[in-house]
Amino acid sequence: MSSIFADAIKNLDLAAKYADVDEEELERLRHTKATLEVGIPLRRDNGSLEIFKGYRVQHDSTRGPTKGGIRYHPQVCVDEVKALAFWMTFKCAVVGLPYGGAKGGIIVDPKSLSRMELERLSRGFMGQMADFIGPDTDIPAPDVYTNARIMGWMMDEYSKIKRQYTPAVITGKPLPLGGSAGREDATGRGVYYSIKELTAKKAWDPKTLTVALQGFGNVAQHAAALLQRDGYRIVALSDSQGGIYRPEGLDIPSIVKAKNETRRVKAIYCEGSVCEVVDAKTISNEELLELDVDILIPAALENVITADNAPRIRAKTIAEGANGPISFDADQILHERGTLVIPDILANAGGVTVSYFEWVQNKAGYYWQAEEVHQRLQTIIAREFDHVYEIMQHHQCSMRTAAYVHGINRLSSAYRAQGTHRYYASLDE
Ligand code: NAD
Repeated sequence: MSSIFADAIKNLDLAAKYADVDEEELERLRHTKATLEVGIPLRRDNGSLEIFKGYRVQHDSTRGPTKGGIRYHPQVCVDEVKALAFWMTFKCAVVGLPYGGAKGGIIVDPKSLSRMELERLSRGFMGQMADFIGPDTDIPAPDVYTNARIMGWMMDEYSKIKRQYTPAVITGKPLPLGGSAGREDATGRGVYYSIKELTAKKAWDPKTLTVALQGFGNVAQHAAALLQRDGYRIVALSDSQGGIYRPEGLDIPSIVKAKNETRRVKAIYCEGSVCEVVDAKTISNEELLELDVDILIPAALENVITADNAPRIRAKTIAEGANGPISFDADQILHERGTLVIPDILANAGGVTVSYFEWVQNKAGYYWQAEEVHQRLQTIIAREFDHVYEIMQHHQCSMRTAAYVHGINRLSSAYRAQGTHRYYASLDE
């Protein structure tokens, strides 16, 4: 059976030849630090009891406390959570945040739970994790099918257990519970900033560029809205039920409104409160990925582009909103065919960056305005995009390999500061 984690760590070997790294440092990165597996008893509204399995994996904490989201999805498995934790270590290293990587998840379809069941399950998970995580050890955040409200419940539960108000234990909280301005749209905004950086480097005109997005959740909705505002033409998008395609372009604010009201993506155009349905083709998620567009943004789940469909991908640029949407083999095929991929560990790092800002604000007890958050985020994404782009040009490698080189260099310098074989065998100063 294929392993997402085994696939993810293959990138280490690919990047190692360009990085300043020793074998023992790479070996550390090939392993996760700790895994917690829990059974969470949930009393259902009808009085029955059900046990849900949950995980929290910490990958590496050399550069700081571990950080990473919590996912609620029926397909969560420990191998996937390990891969997601590994990507978090790299994401934090690539954008220079003082964190290591972690991730968590519960095997559950949250749509099958009532609101009160969802709250009890979330509080139950925090109850089981409370001694494994903490504001200076491991800090969760939202991910697929979790949101600010769930983060708020979890923070409240942790604070009750520790008998101390502890907002810095979790990020992505609602604003009145210690959340940060600008966290809600941060990941989509980061995707947008990285596409803007590329557009500037290539001297493209946004008005000539078409964009398709897979998924229409937190990441995709915000990325699409910001891109459209800058003149990019959003021609396709989808959710778990399927997608819509309109070569003339789709109006994102209208579709967000429809999605919030009906939970479905619909091709509509609204002026004020008056909405009309516009002509659009219904397409499957698979067809969406293969559209002839300038920029494709997979923003749903991992492994949606594999060796099977990679030869049919026609987009010239892919910005990974999701974590790990392209398998290792597919990545090699795309690189050989000249597709430029802005990798997840850079493109979607906006979320964890603003989570870091939230944590800093919680610790300081002093809160910033949205403008300041946006500005600081843009500065970081633009700076690190530049570093990665330079490494890519220098080594003539893929942008993903370049991002791993950048991350490995930061991680290996932290390992070296602690002392590695080089030091103990007196090979170094
Ligand atoms: P979300 O729950 O808000 O949205 C997920 C979207 O994916 C929904 O539109 C859903 O309909 C769609 N979807 C689910 N299953 C699908 C399928 N089989 N085919 C097509 N679409 C499907 O989640 P999100 O926060 O937007 O996260 C999306 C991706 O971005 C994930 O890979 C996540 O790990 C990654 N990510 C999220 C953040 C964040 O801050 N939210 C940060 C970094 C990375």
